[in-house]
Parts: sequence; structure tokens; C-alpha cells
Amino acid sequence: MTSSPKLKVKTIFTDIDMTLTAPRTAGMELVPDECLAALISAQKKMSLEKAGKTVQEFQRSNYRNMAGNYWPFGLLDQLGIAQSLLWDEVARCAGQLHYVFPDAKKFLIRLKRDYPQIRIYPATTNPGMVIYAKLSAGGKDLANETGSRYLDGAFGGEEVVPGGKSSSHFFTALLERTNADPETTLMIGDDPEKDYRLPEAAGIKQTVLVRRGRQDDIVYRAGGPIYLKSLEPVFDIMEPPV
Ligand SMILES: [Mg+2]
Repeated sequence: MTSSPKLKVKTIFTDIDMTLTAPRTAGMELVPDECLAALISAQKKMSLEKAGKTVQEFQRSNYRNMAGNYWPFGLLDQLGIAQSLLWDEVARCAGQLHYVFPDAKKFLIRLKRDYPQIRIYPATTNPGMVIYAKLSAGGKDLANETGSRYLDGAFGGEEVVPGGKSSSHFFTALLERTNADPETTLMIGDDPEKDYRLPEAAGIKQTVLVRRGRQDDIVYRAGGPIYLKSLEPVFDIMEPPV
């Protein structure tokens, strides 16, 4: 193997699912709109089915206006339900269903300690509140209702661009929204399509894909993603803080 790459990083975008967090049981994932419907059903004393339809209809009529706003995009205000009740429900579900990878927790903590000048934002379809909720499954010190001291912001999916992370405009919109330069941005993820090809098309050429359980610490080819077996060696491939 040639010498390790040295990445120049001022901004990090990180995927959430299977990169920082995972379901405790495969396939048993928090579904944000189901949490929302459960809350509406309980608060408004309506059937879960009717609450689910309320959520769907609201989204259908507001779909184009969600970018720049935060999930659930004013629906709770319209129904007179306190936002904090949704946090309680989402955090409860996240704590039951998800965990934070231990190496991901160490990575976030060390990044803020040793590289405070690097900004880090999620790049995910999860709404901001769900990002915080899933991280809070790794401890209240990681994230809570007010946010996370380890992230410089959290907005995802429809909050960035209609269609969310799968949209070909997502990464361009995220770069703009965070005022980040693609040349000095590092994408961290697990999915070759969503976390490598889509950001690359937006000019982000530095990508780490995590492959937990791999034998080799680091595998890469020039011009391709860098595969790491955990997030801890990310520090070995970044230039020292300036
Ligand atoms: Mg993922």
C-alpha cells in the first residue's frame, strides 16, 4: 500500500444511519411520520389511521415549501400540540430502537476536542429532530432536545431540498446552506451511491465509507472512496489542525 492519504478538511458531512447509529434489531427502525401520527392520535383522541392520513395530507399540500423549515413543518402548531411532546415521543422511540456505534461516539467527541475549527453537519434524510433523538440514544451528553454540542447544526431530507438526500440537488444545497467549500469537505457515510457518488457529483471528492468488521484498517484507491473499519482512524488521514 502507498502512504496514507492526507485530507484537507474544514467541513465534515456525515451520514447518520449505519454510519453513526444503527437499529438494535435489523429492520426495526424509527419512522418519523409514524411517531408523529402516534402523537397526534394520542393528543387528538383520533384513530392511528386517521392521524396517519392527517400527516400524509399535510405533507402532500406543503411538500414544496419544506426546505428551510423544520419537520414537522408547522403541523403541530396547526393542531395545537406542543413541539416538546413530539421530542419526548421521538426520543423515546429512538432510545428503544437505536444505538450509537461506540467508535462514532468517540469520533464525535474527539473531533470537537482536537479539531474544534472543523464544522460538522449531518447529511441524511432524517429530520433534524430525529438526528438529535438517534444521537441521544448514545447518551444525553451527545444530544438532547436543544441540539448537540458535537454538531454545528442538524437539518436533513426535506429540510434541505425537496426529495431529501436522494435528490441530485441535495449535496449542492447542503454545501450552500452550510457555506462549505467542496474542496475542503469530507463526506463520511456507508452507502456507495448516496454517500460517495451523489456528493462526488456535487464536487465533494474526499469520502470515507465505514466498513465495520473489515480486516484492514484502511483500503483505498486513488480517486475513490477511502474505506475504514471504524471512524477512529479518520484522524490518521486528516491533515493536522491549523
Ligand atoms: Mg447510511
